[in-house]
This record gives sequence, C-alpha cells and structure tokens, in this order.
Amino acid sequence: MTEEDIKSHVDDIINALKEESKDDISRKEVENELEKFIEYGVPIDQAKQTLIKKYGGLTVLTSSTPAERIMIVDLKPNQSSVKLLGHIIAINPKEVAVKGENRTIYYGILGDESGTIPFTSWGSINVEKGDVVEISNAYTREWQGAVQLNFGDRVQVEKTDKNRLPKVAFEPKELKINDLRSGIGKVDVTARIIEINSHDADVNGESKKVFSGILADETGKAQFTSWHDFNIKKDDVFRITGGYVKSWKGIPQLTFDSTASVKKLEKSKISKDDLESNKMPLHILVEKRGALDVQVQGTVIDVRAGSGLINRCSECKRVIQDSICSIHGKVEGITDIRIKLVLDDGTGAVGAILNREVTETIMGMSLNDLKKMKQEDILEMINKLLIANKIILKGNALGDEFGTSIIAKDAKFVDVDLKDESEKLAKELEDLL
Ligand SMILES: [Zn+2]
Repeated sequence: MTEEDIKSHVDDIINALKEESKDDISRKEVENELEKFIEYGVPIDQAKQTLIKKYGGLTVLTSSTPAERIMIVDLKPNQSSVKLLGHIIAINPKEVAVKGENRTIYYGILGDESGTIPFTSWGSINVEKGDVVEISNAYTREWQGAVQLNFGDRVQVEKTDKNRLPKVAFEPKELKINDLRSGIGKVDVTARIIEINSHDADVNGESKKVFSGILADETGKAQFTSWHDFNIKKDDVFRITGGYVKSWKGIPQLTFDSTASVKKLEKSKISKDDLESNKMPLHILVEKRGALDVQVQGTVIDVRAGSGLINRCSECKRVIQDSICSIHGKVEGITDIRIKLVLDDGTGAVGAILNREVTETIMGMSLNDLKKMKQEDILEMINKLLIANKIILKGNALGDEFGTSIIAKDAKFVDVDLKDESEKLAKELEDLL
C-alpha cells in the first residue's frame, strides 16, 4: 500500500468521524493506528471500521455504500472515494522504480461531459483508449497547482455502456493554445495563422499536399499540420474544430484532416498585437517542457562547456573536433561562436544556446574580431559579462530527457537602470509611510 493510499483511507475515517461531529481527532494518530493495523495484516475495511468505532463514530463505513458520481470539473484536491463516469482519452504505461522495485504504472486522460483530467493508475487496469468506464474509490491530490486523479489499490474501474455518457462528452474541447497538450482528445481552437508552407507527402502511395505552419492566439503559439486543403492563408483567423494534439519536445502540434471543420472568422477576432512572445516563469516552462516563441528572464548561473569559438563541418555544420567530422571524415572546419548557458529565475532553471548572431549582439563584437582573440580570453570575457547578470531571452524552448533548453533568437540584458529606478521609488514610498 502506497503512502497515498494510506492518506486516502485516513481521509475516509476522518470524514466519517466528521459526520458524527467528532472533528477533534488527530490525523497523525489515526494514521499511526491504521498503519499498525495494516502491519498486522488486518483487512483494510475492518481496520477502518474498528478505528471509526474506537473514536466514537457510529457510521458504518462499507465499500458498498453507493457514492454519488462527481463531474470532473467539480473535482478538488484531496478527495477520497471518488466515483466517476468517463471515457478513456489516452492511456500509456510507464516503468517506474518504487523503493528499488520496478513496476508498471499507467498515465492517461479521462474525459466526461464537463472536462478532462490526467490520471495515474498505480496498478494495472484493464481498459483501452475509447472505453467508457465507471470508476469507484479513486482519490485526488494536487500536483503543481492542478488536480490529479489517482487510482490506488482500492479503485474499481469497470467498462460500461457507451450510451451512459452523453454525446457532448465526446465532442471537441474548446481550448486556448497554452492549454493544448498531447492526448487531450479532439479540440476546438480559434487561432491566427502566423506561418504556412505546403509540401507533397506520400499517403498510401498517392501524392498529397500537406499544409503546415504556426498558429497563435493571445496565450501562445503552436505548430499545425493540415492533411486537407482548407484554403488556409497567412494572417487569417480560423476556428478549427476536431483536430488532435501531439507534442514534440514539449511543443504542441495541432493536426487535422478532412474530418475537421475549419471556419474562417473576422481577422479582428485575434488581433496581431495580441501575439507577442509568451512570457512565463521558468518553472512553468519546465513543467510544459517546451513552447514556441517564449520570453523568459533570469540570472545566468553557469556558462557551459562548448561555449566560445567552435569548429563546424563545412558539409553538415556539425560541431567537430580536430577537423574530423563523424560523418564526413577530414574536412575543412568553419569557425563559429556560440554561448551555452544556464538561466535561473528563482522558480526554475533552463539551458540556453545563443548562436553566432545572438552571441555577437550580446558581446558587442563580431565573429571576425573574436577570431583574433585566444579562446581562454573569450571564455573569460563571456563569464565576466554574463555570470550573475540578469538577461531576457526570446526563442523556442525544447524539452528532452536532459531538461528544457531555449534556442535563443534574441538576448538582452535586463535594464539595470530601470531596476534601480523602481527600487528607488519603492524606497521613497517606504519612507513616506
Ligand atoms: Zn559533416
């Protein structure tokens, strides 16, 4: 039994006692007693009823008491004995190590007519994507500000008739771009097209025109791919209903085909001015893993190896050592410059790569001037310039198993004068009070 399961059982006991107006019971004490019962092999339901009686409760807690069904939208953290009816939008196994032991848990998304929620099943469950299921004795916790649904060892998940769930539960969810995540099911998005290109793709032996690009609303940007010609043009605003979301390195990608509905709306629905880089604190970015065109601010806490002058293969632009490319053998190297750094804003940290252009701008020197210097002097200069200083970065953020990195398109120092000014102002206000 996991710690979370025990918490959920303790919740049941406390709730039962509360109904008897016995709300001065110590949670810790109940937990200790319950753990003792479990240790001695007492069946959990019996242990719970014994404890409820011990603390003066009368209500007999039985697992057969029919709980009321809860809508996903009404779920709150730390609820126990949760009963739900929904359909499995996504389910994926994941190997995890729990106390040194490998075990398979399942991550997924459950949807009903009120919304969707991610769930974690700590044991195996016999359901598939698309199944309509009735769930009893699930519990909820809070994770990074969001409600998370959990299936512990008491859960019952049973397949049931599709018709028990209203049709609307299967309809596309209306979402902002910042809320798009993979596995969410069909979505309904209103966005402005920022970029569009087409290319020919081979689909079942036939050549087909595929359209892809970037779309945006006031909350963020996403990539899209359309497998059908909806006459989508740059700068137009569309409502796209019935697309699916996939994710690459944390960046959401909306994919839709001829089964989707794509309606052109007034351009004023989403004005161009609303589409600036999406600003976010680093812990949010790390949680999202990646995002298109973000703006972040933080302190440079490290300049990493691989910064300064580097050599690239003239054929494939890979970084090379000693004029040997792993693909092209001995080649004439091209000298380039870059900075790899770690940015921290107090809530989280990300890596960042500044290419030649961005490096030249922030250093105020051209590659040609830098080439005349020694590598160690350049690195010393970069360290002095950046370490412990605040900068603003704009670019795409990509997440992988090593964390999140920003491929910077723009970098600048935070205006220190402005900061001093605001501090002075705050001080003056303080003196007035
Ligand atoms: Zn090469």
